Amino acid sequence: SGSALPESAPALVVTRHGGPKVLDVRDEPLGEPAADQVLVRVAAAGVNFIDVYQREGVYPVPTPFVLGTEGAGEVVAVGSGVSSFVVGDRVAWGQGLGSARAYATVDTKNLVHVPSGVDLQTAAAAMLQGLTAHYLTTSTYAVQQGTVALVHAAAGGVGQLLTQMVTRRGGRVIATAGSAAKLETARERGADELINYAEVDDVAAAVRERTDGRGVDVAYDGVGKDTFEASLASLRPRGLLVLYGAASGQVPPFDLQRLNAMGSLFVTRPSLGAHVATPEELRARATELFGWIESGDVQVSIGGRYPLADARTAYADLEGRRTQGKLLLIP
Ligand code: NDP
Repeated sequence: SGSALPESAPALVVTRHGGPKVLDVRDEPLGEPAADQVLVRVAAAGVNFIDVYQREGVYPVPTPFVLGTEGAGEVVAVGSGVSSFVVGDRVAWGQGLGSARAYATVDTKNLVHVPSGVDLQTAAAAMLQGLTAHYLTTSTYAVQQGTVALVHAAAGGVGQLLTQMVTRRGGRVIATAGSAAKLETARERGADELINYAEVDDVAAAVRERTDGRGVDVAYDGVGKDTFEASLASLRPRGLLVLYGAASGQVPPFDLQRLNAMGSLFVTRPSLGAHVATPEELRARATELFGWIESGDVQVSIGGRYPLADARTAYADLEGRRTQGKLLLIP
């Protein structure tokens, strides 16, 4: 029941693989929710680097397709087999291709309820990057009191959340970013040491200076190609390099024997999907994350809100390194 749904509504379509120019906003028919899906009126959709990899064809998705894996909104219809969500529920998701549109069909296995203390834009902004920072600091490396972490691109979406989650667990953050303004943001989020990697030639040497020569326990690297070597050279013996993304490009093939020579190092390349593979794990992580947001322990910084029609600008800004925090598309 409720207000009648339109036949069609705007959606952000990738017409062919390429740069932001291949994006087009088109009226598309509303999907009918399958048995295990709901139809959501989308309040906000998240802008993420995975969208860039998919748009460019680095991650293969046949064109044309509706972009976006993240969003939040209100349930307006449920599939025949759905029992845990009803019309009117406030929901959010971080995985589900086809989210950047006014009405999205979402698999219930990807869906969580949004607590009343969290607004829908914040929920949309928190799901993908927040759950990522959560698993990176609890599971990939269990940060504890005294852990020293290197966080690259610390003013970015994931970077600001990582910085807060490391420091609230008693860890110390050495932050990098590409400008003084971005480093100031990292400092506000709790970073202890700041390195401008646009100006410092030897980032690993700068990290060692700030750790009495020891190196860091863990390096969180979502920049990839441009920072990988510095991350490796910044680790203490038996330290862990967490390569979780490739904002500057993919890291080329790597000779594992180097890990032996550099002090028994570890390297991992984790994905969110493997850390929210069951509804139970997704809900447990989301519940904890939303709790931190409600208590104010973790601030979700929304660095830009763009109408769906301006999606090309949103992606050009993200890829052009002009943004801080999270970008949202408002359908
Ligand atoms: P950010 O907000 O961090 O934006 C990317 C930032 O990377 C830029 O602002 C810039 O900061 C830095 N950067 C450095 N070099 C480049 C370059 N050549 N081009 C563009 N940016 C560059 O993005 P997100 O928070 O959305 O994502 C960060 C990373 O996290 C991405 O690599 C993404 O793929 C990854 N990710 C991985 C997940 C996983 O589970 N594995 C899940 C979610 C995200 P500066 O100017 O300070 O250098």
